[in-house]
Amino acid sequence: MDEKQVKRRIVLVPVSAQGHVTPIMQLGKALHSRGFSITVIQTEYNRVSSSQDFSDFQFLTIPGTLTDSDLQSLGALQFLMKLNQICEASFKHCFGQLLQEQISRDDIACVIYDEYMYFSAAAFKEFQLPTVIFTTTNATAFVCRSVFAKVNADKFLIEMKDPEVQNSLFPGLDPLRYKDLPTSAFGTIEDSIKLYSEAVKTRTASAVIINSATCLESSSLSRLQRELQVPVYPVGPLHIAATSASSSLLEEDRSCIEWLNKQKPSSVVYISLGSLGRMETKDMLEMAKGLSNSNQPFLWAIRPGSIPGSEWIESLPEEFGEVVLERGYIVKWAPQMEVLRHPAVGGFWSHCGWNSTLESIGEGVPMICRPISGDQKVNARYIERVWRIGIQLEGEMEKETVERVVKRLIVDEEGADMRKRAMDLKENVEASVRSGGSSCSSLDDFVNSLQTKNF
Ligand code: UDP
Repeated sequence: MDEKQVKRRIVLVPVSAQGHVTPIMQLGKALHSRGFSITVIQTEYNRVSSSQDFSDFQFLTIPGTLTDSDLQSLGALQFLMKLNQICEASFKHCFGQLLQEQISRDDIACVIYDEYMYFSAAAFKEFQLPTVIFTTTNATAFVCRSVFAKVNADKFLIEMKDPEVQNSLFPGLDPLRYKDLPTSAFGTIEDSIKLYSEAVKTRTASAVIINSATCLESSSLSRLQRELQVPVYPVGPLHIAATSASSSLLEEDRSCIEWLNKQKPSSVVYISLGSLGRMETKDMLEMAKGLSNSNQPFLWAIRPGSIPGSEWIESLPEEFGEVVLERGYIVKWAPQMEVLRHPAVGGFWSHCGWNSTLESIGEGVPMICRPISGDQKVNARYIERVWRIGIQLEGEMEKETVERVVKRLIVDEEGADMRKRAMDLKENVEASVRSGGSSCSSLDDFVNSLQTKNF
């Protein structure tokens, strides 16, 4: 037997945030089903537990990393940069121990790390292990980040801060406008550029795996493949390719399914801002009133800590409760995939995180897009302009606009057309992960390359 064929362990290094953990664990499941053993190396902060459908995986924790309060005080970008700084030493120590005591280096086929755990590039190089980047955003956002890393920073900073250019198309990235570029709301533009450059600078990986599909963004994938020196494997949507994996970091409230069971088909607007999005009280109130005036039922996942200055919803005025009680239902954290699959759900009001976008596409549910940060803006633009399966709500949150957009999506002919296109896209992405489909073949190619190539 060829020596390479016995290397059957893959090490995963996730970023410990829901939108990053979910797809990398799904990738782990997909690779596990192809015969690989999986080791997950994670930080103490926001750990996935082995009891969550991952009893066959080995978990290793890097001790002494950052906490939730560090995230609050530093903001997500600084948090990530600091995490990379402090992880490297403690990681090397605990991984070295693992190699001594539990697993053989010769057994490891490769290490797949989230692109924002870029410390891995240097750390694993020291152990002479091949690395592969896993990106949890789509190819278009990846292309944008590569552009960021190359721009003339001074000129770009001036442009990005100029309100006049915000609606202009960014050269070479049509249909993205300046305001759609994936700068983060959780740090300065300077920090966004710094983080992206750090991630690009340390790239010595042998391949890139991406949770996307050719049918969604073939031109961005081709561009990425042209620009990067290594193979790019689009293997998504991973939540369809590896359905049994649940890696929710918060407890899901399934009572909303009972409530959905009582609603009419395609009538409910499901609302979620993902695991990091926050919203001001004033906007929450306008949104609740607009939703109520639209006469459509709504299911709202309001995450604890997502309203500044409030543990959950206790700081919201009484009026909010009155409006919501009329035709809404609130949970802290929803079983999102089950909700989107429910026949009562007619639309998804989303911050357009890439997982949420893929999950909505995977169920053929059209969207109301209210992006907050980073790649969500890219996704929202694609949802509205490229796939034409949603409406982006821009500008101030006003109850009249909210009412109108809900009616356009749920009641009007326009929304019915979007639903039809979303259903077509659902069929296409499902076909891509089936045997012979582009994403399934891409994952097979990756697996084969581990056995045949000198990574
Ligand atoms: N999610 C969930 N319940 C909720 C809200 C979100 O299970 O009430 C899940 C959702 O299914 C998705 C993830 O959290 O898989 C959010 O990831 P996404 O990339 O959409 O956004 P992020 O949290 O990274 O901003």
